[in-house]
Order: sequence, then structure tokens, then C-alpha cells
Amino acid sequence: MKFAREFKAAIQSGDYPEEWCQAAIPYPTLKKCLNKIRAEFQDMGLDADTLRQLLAAQAVSSHGDQIPLAKYKFDVGKSDVRTHFTIFVDLEDGVVVDASLSPASRAFLQKQADMRRSSVSSAEASADVSADVSTDVSVIGDDDDVMDLDESDTNATEPRERQKSFQRVEVTLTADSEFFGLIYRDMAELERIGQAEQASITDDVVALGKEVEAVARPELKRPFWKSNKHKEGELSKFDSDLSTWREVFELYLDAQIFFSTRECDRNRNHGGARSSVLAARQLDWFQDQVRRRNLLQTFHLPASRAAYKNFLQLNKRLYLNMRFRELNQKAQIKILKKFDKVTALGVSTTFPVALSRHHDGTTDLLVDGLARDVCARIAQDVVAVVPRLEDYTCPVCLGLAWLPVRLSCKHVFCVRCVIKMQRDNNKHCPLCRGEVVMEADLDNLDQDLERFLKLYFRQEAKEKQKSNELERGVELFGEDYKPTSCAVM
Ligand SMILES: [Zn+2]
Ligand SMILES: [Zn+2]
Repeated sequence: MKFAREFKAAIQSGDYPEEWCQAAIPYPTLKKCLNKIRAEFQDMGLDADTLRQLLAAQAVSSHGDQIPLAKYKFDVGKSDVRTHFTIFVDLEDGVVVDASLSPASRAFLQKQADMRRSSVSSAEASADVSADVSTDVSVIGDDDDVMDLDESDTNATEPRERQKSFQRVEVTLTADSEFFGLIYRDMAELERIGQAEQASITDDVVALGKEVEAVARPELKRPFWKSNKHKEGELSKFDSDLSTWREVFELYLDAQIFFSTRECDRNRNHGGARSSVLAARQLDWFQDQVRRRNLLQTFHLPASRAAYKNFLQLNKRLYLNMRFRELNQKAQIKILKKFDKVTALGVSTTFPVALSRHHDGTTDLLVDGLARDVCARIAQDVVAVVPRLEDYTCPVCLGLAWLPVRLSCKHVFCVRCVIKMQRDNNKHCPLCRGEVVMEADLDNLDQDLERFLKLYFRQEAKEKQKSNELERGVELFGEDYKPTSCAVM
């Protein structure tokens, strides 16, 4: 009772669209259905213990072969799911003899055999028994199980009629099928909603990518009202919000809100999905960091602030989807476990497997397809709009690869590190060990990359230049060297 209330409250207070609330797992209805299932099994003389015993029991065929006495399985179709509960009974002797069976199990089997016998005799009057699904017991004759049984003993000497009397009987479970039909149709509806969400969020991601691209471009016309008021050196900071966006996205990637690896775009199958609780905490952390660093105030363009708001909105939407999926998953697991308590049929493990197999693992409720795909798109279409420093660092000094020297093996290092390697007579590229270091000269300066770095990492390039000059000065003039601009005369 407690979970039903909790679930209802969580759905109602979760800021979900009305359509979602309607599609949430119909927990109370399923619970009522569970009572019907209990009654249905009881009518047949089956309780959880008896069922457990029947499923575990092995029958011995007339040839001495072991076969399971009872089977329960799902038949997942395109629009519905059916459950099959089948037992083996020996129609002539009444019951398949198994000394370990309790009186309750024996009574059940006896009853099923009796019903089967009467349904066969009534079928002899009417024409087609196999099509008649409304009878309590329908017979699937000559099916795989029985065939296996016959084939397993090729030296069968007993008359054919003796073998035929041993039959697989399907027990019709009405409430049981109703229960799984309800879950199945609800899952289909949730999946439909999930797919519509995915399409809609993906559109938003693409639009946001364009928004960010527009405000984080390295070359941006200065706003006219600022054109004359600043000295040459100060102009750059009005050019665009590129560096602020870089900081925002660095924080975003550090937050790992939906996945525990930074590179969910590259490792689609390896990123560990997070729980919504953790995602909420990380999303808070991200917002808090942006606030602490005053990044919103650092934005020069109002359009940047609007784009940031949209970015946040998108992440919140993704979070809502995640939480809603989790809630329904939890409800589904709960109700399946309750079902197992009544019937001992073990569906809490077998039903999700049957479903995911049918849906080829794409059911959003079962895998975190939505979050994974959207997260990858955010990385690819939004975050990647702003080049990241770590993609352009020198592998030796780990600073920006400025000025970038591309050795003939194609590996890039900063000019300072290449000069040092040459001076120390280190002939081999630190990455591939190719003997390419000594031959490098001014022609190896990658001018396209230089232009790119100047454009996208202006500040970092400037700082690297300064530290290079300082380092060189110290090398030439000793530890006491001070750059001329700082020297006070
Ligand atoms: Zn370097
Ligand atoms: Zn190399």
C-alpha cells in the first residue's frame, strides 16, 4: 500500500506533462489484477508452493526420459504479450507419477487430466478443438516438446498409442494474461512517448548548437556602442563570449551529469549511466560553479545568457525524462515482485528479459537510450562548438601547443619543447619514437593550426608566449632574469 501512494505522489509532483502522468505504470489497476490472479490460481488448487513444486518437478516419460512437468513462458508479439502455462499429464493414468509431488500438486494434475479428457470427448462431437481457445484447457498436440520426447528414444518398442497418451496441456490463465497485457501496452505507450521526446529534444539540441555557435565565434563584430571607448589592448575582450563558454563547458564536462565518463559521445557503450538522484546533484554542482565564477556576468552578449538558459533547460528536461523512466521502472519491478510472491513464477527476472529481447534492446524503459543519445548529441552539437584546450596541448609540457610545430610523423609539439629536444639531442618523437626531431625547422611550423589557435585560444597563446620568453631569458641571462617590461629603471 505504501509504494502505491509513494508512486502516485511522485508522478503527480514531478512536473511531468499530463500525457506522461496518464501513461505511468497503472500500479493500482495491476494490484487489483493481481488479486484476480491469486483467485484464479486458487480456483485451480494452485498456490505459490504448489506452483514452485510443479515447476521444479521432473516427469518421467514412458521411455524413462526426464522432462519438466510444468513450464511458464512469455510469447511477446508485436501488439501484445501472451503467457503460456503448460503441464504434462498422462491421460491414461491420470497423473504423471512423481513420488515427490504433494497431494495439492497431484490434485491439480488430476483435475487437469480429467478436464482434458472431457474436452477431448466433447471435441469429438464438435469439429475443431485446437481453435477453441475459450475452453479452460487447450491441447497443443505434436509440439516440439512431445516430438523431442519421441525422438529421444529411437528404439521405442512400445505401441504408438502409449506415447500419444502423454500430452502437453496448456492451462489458460485469463487474469494472468490481462496483467501482462496491461504492462505490455503501458510500456509500448511509454516507449512511444520516449521516442517523441527524443525527437523533440534532438531538435532542440541542434537549435541550441547553432545558438552557441553564433555567440562563441572567435571573430565577432564589436558592438557599435563600444567601438571607440577602448584602447587597442582592451578590444579583444568584447569580441565574443568564446572563453566564457569554454569555461562553462569545461565545468559541464567535469560535472558528468548523466554519465560517469567524460566522453559519452565516443564511448556510447562504456559510459556508465547515472541515477537521477546523482544527476540532480551534479546538475546542481554545475550551476553552483557557474554562479561562483560569475560566468553569467562575464557574458558580454545578452544572446549568450539566453543560450545558457536554454542549455540549462535542456539538461533539466533530460533529467525529468530520466527520473520518470526510473520511477516507472521501479513500479514495474515492484509489481512483478508482488506477482512472484503470489505465484512463484519468477517473472521479475524473466519478463524484462523477454521484453528487451523482443524490442532488440531498444526499449527506452529498459536501457537508458534516451539519455545516452541526447548526451552524445549535446557533446557533439553543442559542447564541441567550442574547441577544448585539452585537444590542443603539447604532449611534453601539457600547455597549449604554441607555436605549433608539426614533425614529419604528424605529431604536434610546441616550438619551445622541440627546441629543447633538439638542444638535448633527443632525436626521437616522444609519441611514436620516429627519428624526426632533428630535421625539424621553420618549415615545420603548422601555419593553419597557428591561425586557428590564435583565433580560438588567444588568451592561452598570449600566456604561453610570455612564459616562453621568460624561460628563454632565464636560460640566457640566469635565474635573476626579469622580462624588460617588468624591469624598473
Ligand atoms: Zn611543449
Ligand atoms: Zn611522432
